[in-house]
Amino acid sequence: MNVLVTGGMGYIGSHTCVQMIQAGITPVIVDNLCNANKEVLNRIQALTDVTPVFYQGDVRDEAFLDHVFSEQEIDAVIHFAGLKAVGESVAKPLEYYDNNVNGSLVLARAMRKAGVKSLVFSSSATVYGDPASVPITEAFPTGNTTNPYGRSKYMVEQCLSDLFHAEPDWSITLLRYFNPVGAHPSGTMGEDPKGIPNNLMPFIAQVAVGRRAELAVFGNDYPTSDGTGVRDYIHVLDLADGHIAALNSVGAKAGLHIYNLGTGQGSSVLDMVHAFANACGHDVPYKLCPRRPGDIAECWASTEKAEAELGWKATRTIAQMTADTWLWQSNNPNGYEK
Ligand code: NAD
Ligand code: UDP
Repeated sequence: MNVLVTGGMGYIGSHTCVQMIQAGITPVIVDNLCNANKEVLNRIQALTDVTPVFYQGDVRDEAFLDHVFSEQEIDAVIHFAGLKAVGESVAKPLEYYDNNVNGSLVLARAMRKAGVKSLVFSSSATVYGDPASVPITEAFPTGNTTNPYGRSKYMVEQCLSDLFHAEPDWSITLLRYFNPVGAHPSGTMGEDPKGIPNNLMPFIAQVAVGRRAELAVFGNDYPTSDGTGVRDYIHVLDLADGHIAALNSVGAKAGLHIYNLGTGQGSSVLDMVHAFANACGHDVPYKLCPRRPGDIAECWASTEKAEAELGWKATRTIAQMTADTWLWQSNNPNGYEK
């Protein structure tokens, strides 16, 4: 199977390409490198002995996509490409809607022209907004999102669902990720955020390696076990395997398929700080700070549907997530920059 992977040079895309190659699937990468480094190709090659075909270009460029589809025999598309920083999306809504929503529409149009009708889309648990209860099932209401990034994911879900209803020969899979963390256990591939990390795990990792003085813990007055926010952290390799399970089980079946990709376990911010300290062998300095606007108290997935229908379940523990992140961060203190 040949799979076009948009955003395949990014954090989740690069790990998914490695897992795909190891599962006998051939990735063809499209990425404009706006948030990635070309060194990723060498790292994929070193891990798999395969250098994937790579096209540098933008998913909003329909002529470019037409050219890629004309050169490659593609069976399915995984669409990772997009912008993902919540705070930045508030400051730059037009850029976010253009990249995430328009980019997805242009891609779907190019796919239809090329006769490729199997699409796996990177959605997010953010589409659930502040859930009434946990765990969150796929049947929970969506759309009550609090920022342009979340709305862009919700809008793409709506557009793709309308597309499926108009043209029911498509296979459209919406994968709602919870909190992807971790790195390849080789220590050669991981998350490489530009500037100050927005997310918890890369921030902790940069504190642990000495690039930043301390972690700000956003809120210790939530109604949770220790007062800090609770999330469902999932190892990026488990997430990658979830895409392969989706391709293999529903990727060729016409339908609109929706799955949570999480572990079903909640961990607090302080749980993660302590787990990371165990992994790196020293304390991670932190200070308790006010809540971050827009954050919710707790969020974790019901994993039953993905287990039953995809035969997929996340298996890697928080200890593995923190150990792998530490290995990546300590081997590559400046990420992919030499
Ligand atoms: P990432 O930024 O590491 O990867 C995205 C890749 O897409 C980058 O390599 C970037 O260069 C590329 N890209 C961006 N816009 C493009 C465009 N217009 N044309 C071509 N390439 C483009 O992000 P990630 O963490 O790997 O996330 C992948 C997807 O998963 C994103 O759609 C993101 O919104 C979604 N997601 C991520 C998380 C998370 O916490 N990391 C959670 C839920 C959903
Ligand atoms: N968080 C924190 N300090 C940080 C970054 C995040 O305390 O520097 C907390 C945040 O308030 C939330 C959790 O860590 O409770 C996960 O945040 P992240 O941004 O990684 O993911 P989110 O679930 O918000 O998308």
